[in-house]
This record gives sequence, structure tokens and C-alpha cells, in this order.
Amino acid sequence: MNILEIDSLRAGHGLLVAVQDLSLTVAEGETVALVGANGAGKSTLLRTIAGAHRSTAGSVRLDGEDITALASHQRVQRGLALVPEGRRLFGDLTVWENLVVAGRRARTGPWTVDRVMEAFPMLTALRDVRASNLSGGQQQATAIGRALMTNPRLLFVDEVSLGLAPVAVDAVYESMAALIAGGSTVVLVEQDLSRALRVADRVICMLNGRIVLDAGIAQVSRAEVTEAYFGVPAPRRLPDGAAPVSTKSAVRR
Ligand code: ATP
Repeated sequence: MNILEIDSLRAGHGLLVAVQDLSLTVAEGETVALVGANGAGKSTLLRTIAGAHRSTAGSVRLDGEDITALASHQRVQRGLALVPEGRRLFGDLTVWENLVVAGRRARTGPWTVDRVMEAFPMLTALRDVRASNLSGGQQQATAIGRALMTNPRLLFVDEVSLGLAPVAVDAVYESMAALIAGGSTVVLVEQDLSRALRVADRVICMLNGRIVLDAGIAQVSRAEVTEAYFGVPAPRRLPDGAAPVSTKSAVRR
């Protein structure tokens, strides 16, 4: 059963159309990796679905209900949570306080502060530390925990590993794997394509505001994803001595 149905969604920034008449569905329990180069429209899409950015056309349905006109807090109450790029924690509040604030007026469900601490063991010792004093990985774990405190049915995580040390990325993904194994529906944006393909069961690639690839992980090769990502056929082999192109948008290996 589809938990999310997006039909012909359009959103932009001023005259720039960042999400172009985009349609997609997400089934309950799926883990979807949303990938694409910088500026492809991933963050705008997620923010529009979450109600943090206004759509100019199209519709978003959650569990069959049209939520297109709802404010973001109303979408949270219906089970949609977004971990935004940059995390946006309350810096002056402790980890515990950030979690408790998110849990106020939350949907009923299994997630409590204790359960978040269990899912993200690194947070237990940081309970009374202010968010502004946390490392990037600790902030990301807190931000995901904060989203879980709303007891979401559908969790979006934007830029899971951006700016994190490799060891922190491992820890965050370890906890996410437990979430996913528990049957949560997760859509994650990830620059690290290898990680995304390891954790997801479906990959969606965006380019210039549109979906250019949507496939089950088992049905698609890495080369096909890379081609969709860049919008050009991937080089099969670099000339001897040539270095790979290094940009923020390059697929990390
Ligand atoms: P990134 O990986 O860099 O976050 P993205 O795929 O998430 O990229 P978006 O951030 O959604 O892409 O950006 C889509 C387009 O919208 C880009 O052309 C970007 O420059 C533009 N854009 C994004 N945010 C704004 C903004 N606040 N004001 C104006 N243009 C914006």
C-alpha cells in the first residue's frame, strides 16, 4: 500500500522551477534513496512534501488524504517528519530537551526519549549537553531522534552524512539500519552513492527538478545510477594517470 502519493508537484524559488511536475509514490515500509547532483531539487522536493516550502501546482497525499494545503505542523501530526539539511536543532537546549520539545503534542506511538537513546546509544552520555556543543554526527543523531519523537509513519532525512566524519556516518547508519529493520518508511538524501545503495531498497535519481531514474536496487546497476546522476554516460575508464573529477557533486566511492 502506498503511504505517499505525489502527483505533478511543482515548486520553485522565485522564477526558478526547482521541482518540475514531479510524480512519485512511496510504499509503506520502503527505504528510498533520493540521489542527484547539487541543485537537482532534492531538498526543495523534501521541504515541499513536508510543508516547509510552498508548492505552486500538484498534490501530496499521505495515506490517501490530500495534505497539499496543510501547514507543516499539521503534516507532522499526520505522521510525516523531516530531518532538514543542516539539522536545525535548538542550540541552547540540551539533547534531552530537544527530544522532549519534539515529543510534546506528538502522535501516540512507540518513540520515547528512552527508545531514541536506545536507538542512538551515542546520545545517552550526551543527554545533558547543549546541542550547540555537539559534533556533527551527534547533532545528526539528535536531529533524527527529534524527528522520531513525533512518531512518524514516514521519515525524510536530508543529507544524512554531509559534513560528518566517517566514524560518525557509520554510527548514524548503524542506528538507521535498526530503524529500517523495524519496518519504518524512510526516504533519505545521500551524497555518498555507495552508502545509499547499500541501505535502500529503491533508488530515485533527480536531475534538473525531474526524476530521471526510479528503480529497485536489484534492478539497476551502479553505472546506470551514475549516468542518471550526471545526465551523461559515465566514463568507462579514465585515461592512465588522469584523476577523477573532484566536485562536491561527484559520486563518492
Ligand atoms: P544540494 O545537494 O546542493 O542541496 P538539491 O538537489 O537539494 O541540491 P535544491 O537545494 O532543492 O537542490 O536546489 C534546487 C534549485 O533551487 C537549485 O538551482 C538551487 O540553486 C535553487 N535554490 C535552492 N534553494 C534556494 C533559495 N533559497 N533561493 C533561491 N534558489 C534556491
